Amino acid sequence: MHRELRTVTHWQDRSACRREDPELFFPIGDTGPALAQIEEAKDVCRYCAVIEPCLEWALAAQEAHGIWGATTEAERRRLRRAAIRTAQA
Ligand code: SF4
Repeated sequence: MHRELRTVTHWQDRSACRREDPELFFPIGDTGPALAQIEEAKDVCRYCAVIEPCLEWALAAQEAHGIWGATTEAERRRLRRAAIRTAQA
């Protein structure tokens, strides 16, 4: 979990990003040069031992900014909408 955004959780101390530059996980936009930054951040997430609780936390918190659990904010919005559709079916 990004250092400056730490909340009280039991999984955060095992995060792969705790020693990374937090700015890596907050690209400006999602086009052009930001795409390379997004992929670099996701690469860190893909090897993170706590990717699942991180993503669950970001979805539950409706975290609107940054890369969490190898997802962008747009990807998390799609996941939330899909979960709502599934729940309504
Ligand atoms: S999944 Fe990514 S953002 Fe989440 S704790 Fe791991 S490295 Fe950090």
